[in-house]
Amino acid sequence: MKDYHAAIINKWIFPYSIKLRKGDFKSKMDEAMQNQTLTREEIRDLQFEKLGELIQHAYRFVPYYRDTFKQIGLSPQDIRTWEDFEKLPILTKAQVREYNQQFLSEKQRTPLRNYKTSGSTGTPLKVFTSEISIASEYAARFRALNYYGVNIGDRVVQLSGVDRYTHTTGFKKAIGNRLYQPFKNFIFNRSVLPVNNISEEDLEHQWQFLQAYKPTYISGLSSALHYLARYIDDRGYDSGSLGIKLITVGGEKLFDFQKEILERVFKCPVADIYGSYEIGIAACSYPCGALHTNDDFVIMEVIKSSPEDEYGQIIATRLDNWEFPLIRFNIEDLAPQLETHHDCSLGLPFCKLDQIIGRHFDQIKLANGRVVHGTYFTGLLTKIPGIRHYQVNQRELDRFEILAVIDEDKYSIEGASIIKDRMNALFGPVEVTITPVPSISSEASGKFRVVRSDLV
Ligand SMILES: [Zn+2]
Repeated sequence: MKDYHAAIINKWIFPYSIKLRKGDFKSKMDEAMQNQTLTREEIRDLQFEKLGELIQHAYRFVPYYRDTFKQIGLSPQDIRTWEDFEKLPILTKAQVREYNQQFLSEKQRTPLRNYKTSGSTGTPLKVFTSEISIASEYAARFRALNYYGVNIGDRVVQLSGVDRYTHTTGFKKAIGNRLYQPFKNFIFNRSVLPVNNISEEDLEHQWQFLQAYKPTYISGLSSALHYLARYIDDRGYDSGSLGIKLITVGGEKLFDFQKEILERVFKCPVADIYGSYEIGIAACSYPCGALHTNDDFVIMEVIKSSPEDEYGQIIATRLDNWEFPLIRFNIEDLAPQLETHHDCSLGLPFCKLDQIIGRHFDQIKLANGRVVHGTYFTGLLTKIPGIRHYQVNQRELDRFEILAVIDEDKYSIEGASIIKDRMNALFGPVEVTITPVPSISSEASGKFRVVRSDLV
């Protein structure tokens, strides 16, 4: 049976919801579909043209870049080749945090959405995105999903660790959780299942929900989907009957063992969507098996400090977000390389990103057998004023130590009580200590882990 709800969202509700905020999804989608037919050289030229416009805009209207270009003694006219582009300094998260408001353009074409990144590496960051850029992200995502037979408006279940109303209380929380989000979810043909603090009953509920709701596809965190797949597998349930076309994962690393079990249990392909609030949707899996970078919307680089290094830093320049431009931004993820000339069975002109490492949120197992996903802590701690970096360490089953780099002016004792109260409310009685530290050290991979357990 034709899903009329999906068709109405696809044709009307979705494009107009973006248009209301001055984005233009339809033209971006047309552009995305057109771009996939270009040659590699044409894509390179398109990137360079878009880059030139971005740099011009940044130089004229963005205080940070006006100053930076002056300091390095360059003007946009000096960026004539890719070699010139590679001379521009790499931008760090620390710089974006420090000069945050100076990245905002004085000339804005659309309203902005602002996001506080979940701080998957333990440090929250505020970024702004224009509607034009949001439209590009959707276009890039659905260009890939179309290959799997999934379109905008198709019924989706999202397994998400983000609770938008964690830090609101009372009336606002009740309205948000019980009315506004469910209404929005209904309109967009989607349902959101929480993944934090999951018990066996919750997994059974998720399974029953999927049977009743019959989504076209499921999206979510790979670890949360992996738990669900394992549960379904252990019970011997027949998930083939769900008729799911695709699973999309994002927000953390997709491990091969997770992909294998997801494909086997749900009897459908698994597509990885790689991106972040800072860089947009930077790469998507395609049925050719490659994780292709969305070169028409983002310039990606993998830079090694020496040729012998196994992994390089992933550097991204989002091309449509003129309102908050981040040029050569170091996302702090690592990959072995970016293949510029991938022989694609689908004939796509885009680069191929080899396996990304270092997006793994750990999970914590509690005394009662429940599992808490790392995103729970990023959701909780990111919003406590004055906590700059953090790492949650499980010392014993019921004893936690949070190492925190604290901004003394903004941090207060109430912040600490909120953390303790919420953890106690969710986990049952646990001992929580918050230890101020000057810095938090990273793992050998260079990644800062949000959650660690001494028990594994
Ligand atoms: Zn390909």
